[in-house]
Amino acid sequence: MEKLLFIYNPHAGRGQVRGKLAGVLNAFTRAGCLCTAYPTQGPGDAARCAREWAPGFDRIACCGGDGTLHEVVAGLMELPEGSRPPIGYLPAGTTNDYARNLKLPRGMEEMAALAASGEPRPVDIGRLGENWFIYVAAFGLFTDVAYNTPQQFKNTFGHLAYVLKGVSELGSLKSYSLKVEHDEGTLEGEYLYGMVSNTISVGGILGLPSDEVVLDDGLLELVLVEKPRTVAQLNAVVMALARQEYTAESGVVGLHSSRFHITCTEPIPFTLDGEFGGEHTETEIATVNTPIRIVYGK
Ligand SMILES: [Mg+2]
Repeated sequence: MEKLLFIYNPHAGRGQVRGKLAGVLNAFTRAGCLCTAYPTQGPGDAARCAREWAPGFDRIACCGGDGTLHEVVAGLMELPEGSRPPIGYLPAGTTNDYARNLKLPRGMEEMAALAASGEPRPVDIGRLGENWFIYVAAFGLFTDVAYNTPQQFKNTFGHLAYVLKGVSELGSLKSYSLKVEHDEGTLEGEYLYGMVSNTISVGGILGLPSDEVVLDDGLLELVLVEKPRTVAQLNAVVMALARQEYTAESGVVGLHSSRFHITCTEPIPFTLDGEFGGEHTETEIATVNTPIRIVYGK
């Protein structure tokens, strides 16, 4: 039998996994796995668990929100590549951005069966300095409050257009003077918000056109929102975000690159997968090409 380590956050998604445990464990067994179940005991525990115990297992099943998956991946990235078992993900959070990329079945037991027996595929992982992210590193507007209220951040991209619409004083918008070097050039200007991602969904909405996002292509997508100086520019930004049309004229930049070097004239707060990622004046964001394997649905 394959040895499966089941790491789950018992509080994720208002504790929805607790009532499903018996069915989930049964699904693992029926799929031919001998299962060890571990309920995480607090922040950081899923990362520690993956780092310390993963090498003794053939497969990991991870149940929780994006934060739990983030931790499991971060834990595995501390191990040599050959000691990282594939991950099956059972999303149980409130937003579940990353799961939208994986075409998972509905229902906990169905997801458990897939996690235990499905074919894993390699995915890229992002790196910001010494830290990892699975799907998004965001900076600027709103991200400084995010680590106190993760949900607020998770919704910011979806609500950015909405918030900008309500702005009465353009001058009151906090912006950052940024230089962003990427594979094909350099951008410089005053920006409200930026996001480097590898996902079709950020903040519970489809943040980027799904036909332009590939999880294992060695590329990340950058969306950068310029500070509007006139009401007409503000309207163009709101429209571009709503339509996902990122052009030079719209004030929203969108491009692909394997790395970004970001320099700011002042410390700018970052979030990684919705958690606080520190403040940086100069930082390097890059992809690591396919160091982790995750099970996809059909
Ligand atoms: Mg990609």
